[in-house]
Amino acid sequence: GRSLAELVAAGERSFSFEFFPPRDEAGEEQLWRAVSALEPYRPTFVSVTYGAGGSNRDTTVRVTGRMARETTLTPMAHLTCVGHTREELEAILDEYEAAGVRHVMALRGDPSDGPRAPWVPTEGGLQYASELVEMCAARGTFRIGVAAFPERHPASASLDQDADVLAAKARAGAEFAVTQMFFRADDYFSLVDRVAARGVDLPILPGIMPILNLNAIRRQGELIGTEVPADVVERIRAHEGDPVAMRAEGIALAAELCEELLAGGAPGLHFYTLNQSRATLEIFERLNVTV
Ligand code: FAD
Repeated sequence: GRSLAELVAAGERSFSFEFFPPRDEAGEEQLWRAVSALEPYRPTFVSVTYGAGGSNRDTTVRVTGRMARETTLTPMAHLTCVGHTREELEAILDEYEAAGVRHVMALRGDPSDGPRAPWVPTEGGLQYASELVEMCAARGTFRIGVAAFPERHPASASLDQDADVLAAKARAGAEFAVTQMFFRADDYFSLVDRVAARGVDLPILPGIMPILNLNAIRRQGELIGTEVPADVVERIRAHEGDPVAMRAEGIALAAELCEELLAGGAPGLHFYTLNQSRATLEIFERLNVTV
């Protein structure tokens, strides 16, 4: 396949879908149903997150490997520094490579007590995502994505620090970034400007999360530093008591954001699917996207 940079150079947009590793058999079936439903849309890549620790970490290797073998999709496997030594990280990269996975999302990850707990690197491991980017890049076989934060990473002192970190990750070998969820297009465009001002040419894919459950998104947003703006809350709350209308409003809001982002020059869209195809396809239908 063509790289993201090549797509963007050709004036084309990237579309991608994110999944998480299933925890049981029912989750496994749900994942592959969603994958099958989205595959015909020929995404640029599909990504699979890496568990915050414990048993489902091997699942990312298994799921991305199966995607590489049994589907037409280009899988991107996430990897974090949490709880791993350098040797372990190298071994997981070996597994990705052996499974035919050529795209890696290189992340630091969060402490087991959550994104706001102090970060303590694992002994013999890595401290920052940029070091994992370097490790991936040194192999010469991976295309590397990294995380970006339109509203500031909770542990960063400023938006400028975030932009410095992102520029450093690009210089270390990252080819593109995907953002945390956000709900104001301006936050995204400002991030793009800050990164460009640092002389770095890095496609930044907006991460799209439709609000299907307002309270859950607000709770998650508080942890990761994403605000649900008052006007967005208001538009959803206007349908309180009517779950169908509330859901439709969440889809409409996401589609409006997508349109604003594409109109403003975003290189594509990255959808957080939560292993469901329906919401993503509903948003797609509202966009003028030809597949
Ligand atoms: P970093 O880039 O290392 O940044 C972390 C913090 O350290 C920031 O505050 C940054 O400013 C600071 N920092 C970085 N470098 C330096 C430096 N040289 N000096 C001083 N400070 C520095 N988590 C998972 O567990 N699994 C996943 O699969 C996963 N997928 C994600 C996908 C996306 C698109 C996003 C946006 C996040 C994802 N996360 C995932 C969450 C992510 O692990 C957390 O947001 C984490 O807190 C930050 O990771 P990072 O890679 O941005 O870290």
